[in-house]
Amino acid sequence: MRHAVSALTLLLALGCAGCDKAADAPPPFDGATALTRVKAQLDFGARVPNTPAHLKAGDWIIAQVTPLADTVIVQPFTHVTAKGDTLHLRNIIARFKPANPQRVLYLTHWDSRPTAEESKDSTQRSLPTPGANDGASGVALLIGVAEALKNLPPTLGVDLLFVDGEDYGDFKADTDVLLGSRYFAEHLPDTGYAPLFGVLFDMIGDADLQIFQEGNSVQQAPDVVARVWSQAKALGHDDVFHGEPKWTVTDDHIPLLKKGLHVIDVIDLDFPYHHTTEDTLDKVSAASIAVVGQIAVALVR
Ligand SMILES: [Zn+2]
Repeated sequence: MRHAVSALTLLLALGCAGCDKAADAPPPFDGATALTRVKAQLDFGARVPNTPAHLKAGDWIIAQVTPLADTVIVQPFTHVTAKGDTLHLRNIIARFKPANPQRVLYLTHWDSRPTAEESKDSTQRSLPTPGANDGASGVALLIGVAEALKNLPPTLGVDLLFVDGEDYGDFKADTDVLLGSRYFAEHLPDTGYAPLFGVLFDMIGDADLQIFQEGNSVQQAPDVVARVWSQAKALGHDDVFHGEPKWTVTDDHIPLLKKGLHVIDVIDLDFPYHHTTEDTLDKVSAASIAVVGQIAVALVR
């Protein structure tokens, strides 16, 4: 009996020490590993739909998240472009606690853009962008979140959605863009699917990370903007998450907002290499992805 009491005392003491540590430490997110996952995607080549690199990268994402999530859903679909080409696309959804109706949706696009039309050198403009920040950083972020949630399961249900075909076409003409988020909005994973809130992460790996609030998000889901920005502040990241809007963007949150889901865009549009051939590994950093990763993990604890 005496032995049992002392063991209990010891357990309580250890438990408290653990609690104090957990309260002080930021939520774990492994930025260094995330950066290796950016590189792994670039090593496949540009992830442009209907290319071998795109096929390999999609298979790789599925292989990465399958051992981490409770369930993985793949949504294969096709899209006929304005030029008449048929694109073969896949959305990938890694689900934690899929039966919990109280859930959060995080999404990012995993394809990369076929044309680097913003390149300064005009001979580069018909080439694909490597998409280190625009594509690969968001994928690395969500796989890192999956790893953190596997290590310490969330209190809420969480869906990590990797959408395809975001960056294929022409944003001004609104053709052949946001393909995966449009498909997802019409093929939600559950009847009555209504996450508490959702966050789209796009271009969050910039070594010089500057995230301003996004206009459509502020207008249509101000509660979610407030929630994310206050979490950023609580973790001491208000040097990166600026508390005012700057850009208004057509991005994957738009089809979901139209569907009535409360989804905002967390995006760093102050990225000089956007849609150029210079969106390469050296422009992104482990520290930047970790800042956003810590916030994403803390929001579902
Ligand atoms: Zn893009």
